[in-house]
Amino acid sequence: MLSFMRKEPVSIADSSQLVLTHAGETIVVTLRRLRSARRYTLRVRFAARDAVLTMPQRGSIRDARAFAERYAAWIAARLKRLPEIIPFDDGAVAPLRGLDHLLINVPNARGVVWSEPLREAAAQGPAHALYVTGAREHMPRRVRDFLKREAQRDLEASVARHTRRLGLPARTIGLRDPVSRWGSCSATGSLNFSWRLIMAPPFVLDYLAAHEVAHLVHLNHSPRFWALAHELSEDVDRAEAWLSSHGAQLHKYGAAR
Ligand SMILES: [Zn+2]
Repeated sequence: MLSFMRKEPVSIADSSQLVLTHAGETIVVTLRRLRSARRYTLRVRFAARDAVLTMPQRGSIRDARAFAERYAAWIAARLKRLPEIIPFDDGAVAPLRGLDHLLINVPNARGVVWSEPLREAAAQGPAHALYVTGAREHMPRRVRDFLKREAQRDLEASVARHTRRLGLPARTIGLRDPVSRWGSCSATGSLNFSWRLIMAPPFVLDYLAAHEVAHLVHLNHSPRFWALAHELSEDVDRAEAWLSSHGAQLHKYGAAR
């Protein structure tokens, strides 16, 4: 059911955002001016958990605001339907290399973070545990740091294997947390990946490494690029399918960025 929008003033938080109030809740709408846009369009972004309003280059903020207000109920409903964020906290379940792990805080144990099979796994629950030492309030950061280290290691190994196969020099890689892409290859040949790939099954991470390494040869998505990607990875289609059906879910883990 659509609830009635309150007539509260709409303010502009900064030049690129609108703040609406709908049924007592605050909705932030990011404005994006696009030269190619002919009209106003709205979409809700899963990973960023916000709404984006695309508008023509010369469109007015007033029109954008009127448009966003008209669809405030729609935006609010969409945002509510987004899967909830699962923080890296004691008792939470998060995937590592495609396997669900129960996060367990062991404050006084030695070491930092490690994964092992869960000794008393329930039939339905995760079969693995990620033990995290130290104070509980440091868990989110420790888990995230651990996942980044593991991502770095796996991606470096995959990238090294694929570059070797093509006779290319070794590459260093960077980790990011982008909302809309899993990897990138710049014109200068620097490779960047989302650290969240460490949560996906290994064939997905390895495919992304192969994909970006193939871009070192073809900086486009031409048929020759895809032929090379298929040469490097047997899992191109399977991994692309996995990403399109499960990829967005990887953004729900950890605190909001
Ligand atoms: Zn690509």
